[in-house]
Amino acid sequence: MDAPAEKTPSHLLRTAFHMNDSVTLLAGWMIDGTGAPARRRVLVRVDNGTVSSVEDAGTDGTGGSVGAAVHDFSTCTLVPGLVDAHVHLTLSGTVDPQVRREQLGYSFERNRPLMERRLAKYRSYGIVALRDGGDKAGHGLRFRTEWLPPDFRPQLRAAGTGWRAKDRYGNLIAKPVEGHFLADFVRDGNPSADHVKIVNSGLNSLTEFGRQTPPQFARADLAAAVAAALNRGMKTMVHANGCLPVAGAVDAGCASVEHGFFMGRENMEKMVERGIFWVPTAASMKAFLRHTPPGRIEAQTAAKNLEHQLEQISAARNTGVSIAVGSDSGGYGLFHAETFIEELKLLVEAGFGIEEAVRSASVEGARLLGLESEIGQIVPGSPATFVVVSGPPSQLPDSLRNVRSLYIRGKKAQ
Ligand SMILES: [Zn+2]
Repeated sequence: MDAPAEKTPSHLLRTAFHMNDSVTLLAGWMIDGTGAPARRRVLVRVDNGTVSSVEDAGTDGTGGSVGAAVHDFSTCTLVPGLVDAHVHLTLSGTVDPQVRREQLGYSFERNRPLMERRLAKYRSYGIVALRDGGDKAGHGLRFRTEWLPPDFRPQLRAAGTGWRAKDRYGNLIAKPVEGHFLADFVRDGNPSADHVKIVNSGLNSLTEFGRQTPPQFARADLAAAVAAALNRGMKTMVHANGCLPVAGAVDAGCASVEHGFFMGRENMEKMVERGIFWVPTAASMKAFLRHTPPGRIEAQTAAKNLEHQLEQISAARNTGVSIAVGSDSGGYGLFHAETFIEELKLLVEAGFGIEEAVRSASVEGARLLGLESEIGQIVPGSPATFVVVSGPPSQLPDSLRNVRSLYIRGKKAQ
């Protein structure tokens, strides 16, 4: 017997319509997201939202793909859709202490247009997915659930309110755990959240190089909380600096370590074994340095912290740790979209080739966010989500300010 006819939701109809598009892009250069060297003059054919072939364009530029519409980007570089894996959408990144305080008290109605503007900026830089690292009031999550249509780009993944220990760091982004176990809060909190955010250390000292803070949670409590999140189908991102706080997060089986200053080699090796991502947010230290008078002890310490973090990034690259790019935008001096470029530059300064940096900024971020069906390497069979930036690869990452076009699952979106 036939199943009763079902009404197809309108957003699915729209998707089905776009899936029929067939197009070929001629790219002057292509960085495919595997980390392989950029290729010169490539034809990328897209059918039904998926890459169907990638071939050398040849001298006449057609490569034999006669018949399909060719979008000519012969002076541009094609890269996979980009992902910022750590933002705070409710904060602007200003360094004005009074404005920062005021922003914490903004109502949802006041925050909403500001968040919309920030999303538009990300999109203009080719960033098609964001992971929000939490805000105390949970406005980022409310914005995602109540205001963003499901097909909106950049796609927002939000934690809502994060969790921290009582009387410890994290008041901007997290509520204190009191009277119950951390796992109870994770199990019962933020019903529509995409992932869980836990704060497990303090900030880095700016007066004493390398001073570490103790973990906020006992290892067993953290492990129970990560398990409770997994039970709800959610990954956990853990703010952790220093050997012990990171070790607790890694042993608990979190999805990603955020910041990870001074985490040490042993933690990196365990992260490789367990497939745990690192989001180094090195630009946060650079921003602090930029906004602090040079003679002060805080500036000297920040410079050393930054140098040490770049050494750690280099070591993680050699060890094989999966690194995703997170800007921590909204934090002190960390401006939305611009800081993503800054963080990419720091990866390059630490020894990444631009192709490797793009891999971290795209397919690695997509894996961390569970968006592999939306963003992948530019190879046959992958989702056709691309950013077209002006100029050759040598102009990256600054050329993200000059995005020429954006394709989402084969559909020209910009
Ligand atoms: Zn953060």
